[in-house]
Amino acid sequence: MISALHLLFIFIIGLVFGSFFNVIGFRAPLKQSIVRPRSRCPYCHDQLTAIELIPVISFFVQRGKCRHCKRRISFLYPMIELLTGFLFAAAFFLIGWEFELVVVWTFMSLLLIVFVTDVTYMVIPNKILLTFAAIFLVERFIIPLNPWWDSLLGGVIALLIPLFIAMISKGGMGGGDIKLFALLGFALGTQTVLLSLFLATFYGALFGGIGLLLGIVQKGKPLPFAPFIGIGTLTAYFYGEKILNSYLQLLK
Ligand SMILES: [Zn+2]
Repeated sequence: MISALHLLFIFIIGLVFGSFFNVIGFRAPLKQSIVRPRSRCPYCHDQLTAIELIPVISFFVQRGKCRHCKRRISFLYPMIELLTGFLFAAAFFLIGWEFELVVVWTFMSLLLIVFVTDVTYMVIPNKILLTFAAIFLVERFIIPLNPWWDSLLGGVIALLIPLFIAMISKGGMGGGDIKLFALLGFALGTQTVLLSLFLATFYGALFGGIGLLLGIVQKGKPLPFAPFIGIGTLTAYFYGEKILNSYLQLLK
């Protein structure tokens, strides 16, 4: 049974993981170690004390500024922490104690880390993709998709279609995005990854169009695509069946 206490517990664990995803996301693209040195302010290099490392709370207590030099801390930190807490708890709520939950937490972790790297540096590091490839390989060996070869098919299709889109759109999709899709195809199977690709493109175009009208997005300046891949994949994974069924109803 899922109680409110379970959900709260997982939410808090999620906040802590989110804090770790920030460290990975901000450091990995700079080829820095994720364990050493301890967290510091990126501006004045003041080493953060335990009280400054509490997820979400520290950020708001310090009003989004470094305690030492008073410079602004990226809003991404509390946002990723809260998102991780929320998504981890939501996944548990929707799936329950199944082994599949581990796979879902894994792909959520990947999507949150590349959210940080892509928004901050416009890259999706190979090291992160390779690490998660190894984890997915083990997970899908223990609980394969049905049928098992859907992982291979999903991986290949999710490599070829984005590659084709990248070739005809010339720069609409980067190499990191393509590899990320291939990995998600392996983990989630053909149907989910195809829908995710479609939705990510749709969300990206929608956001780009509205952003251009509102003047938030500059013309010709590429948008980080990983956040849209994230939202697309979550929608496809949790609501894919519903979306496809209502689409098929429309065709009748
Ligand atoms: Zn500082």
